[in-house]
Amino acid sequence: MLPPAAASVTTTMRIVLLGAPGSGKGTQSQRLMQQEHIPQISTGDLLRAAVARGTELGRKAKEAMDGGRLVADELVLGLIRERLAEPDARRGFILDGFPRNLSQAQALARLLGTLRQPLDAVVQLEVEYGELVRRISGRRTCADCGRVFNLFTSAGQLNENAPCPRTGAPHRLIQRPDDNEATVTERLRVYDEQTRPLIEFYRARGLLRAINAEGEVDEVTRRLEQALHAIARPKAAKTARAATRKSRAPKPGGRRRGASRRAAKSASGMRRKPAATARAASKGKPVRRAPGGTRAGGRRSARRARR
Ligand code: AMP
Repeated sequence: MLPPAAASVTTTMRIVLLGAPGSGKGTQSQRLMQQEHIPQISTGDLLRAAVARGTELGRKAKEAMDGGRLVADELVLGLIRERLAEPDARRGFILDGFPRNLSQAQALARLLGTLRQPLDAVVQLEVEYGELVRRISGRRTCADCGRVFNLFTSAGQLNENAPCPRTGAPHRLIQRPDDNEATVTERLRVYDEQTRPLIEFYRARGLLRAINAEGEVDEVTRRLEQALHAIARPKAAKTARAATRKSRAPKPGGRRRGASRRAAKSASGMRRKPAATARAASKGKPVRRAPGGTRAGGRRSARRARR
């Protein structure tokens, strides 16, 4: 459960969680996914599922994964392309463990550009090296539902006696094969060499937010939510500016050409949202937007936006 202070941010957020193995990307993505109802897309999970199913891709990926190295870009990009094309990803997504190097980051930017779904933010989870090693060695995953636990966190977080939502039986905790000491060292080296440069890549594009990801899980979740609220506000302001521009633009015949009566009706129904968005933004509150609800219009909402 999320801490009570964590309010919902928005339903159309497209973010990347960036961090070393053990920095809590999986745990925080799972919490955010429940809160925001947007999917967590973990390339590690997709690859492990392919390995478990024994697909050709899984067979190709396995050796690199067992050695703690990166799987070939074309395999991972193929998985991401397919996954982002699924309907649930239209409402936003949390990328966990992707991109992992510069060429993946560039390919992602191209893909999202084609889909007209640019990233909203990249949140970097900062954790000291020693703490990363400690966390990875205590990490356990439920073999049935995939939920991540840690032997070294408080009893409340471990909560392994709670029933598994998949089976209704207690969670079946297993240690990932690549969470052993030798592989962990290699994975952290690969992170430093190939993934860390993405911090500068995204900073240069104005997308990077860094949070301290050490301490209690709930506290880290709060910091993450705060970082995302800071993103939601400029987004809401942008929506309000778009409302102003649109309300000023002349409309041929007073209505969009070719728009059916029903479409016109639904468009007028959407006018309330930008006003609410602008009000929330002016009060510095997080904003919940409906999927695709960035369309704006109406003088009333524009007037409110300017206030
Ligand atoms: P993770 O669960 O994110 O720690 O990933 C486990 C392993 O899957 C990594 O050590 C890599 O071998 C592989 N992997 C996951 N994501 C990627 C990626 N984006 N690019 C290449 N390999 C990846």
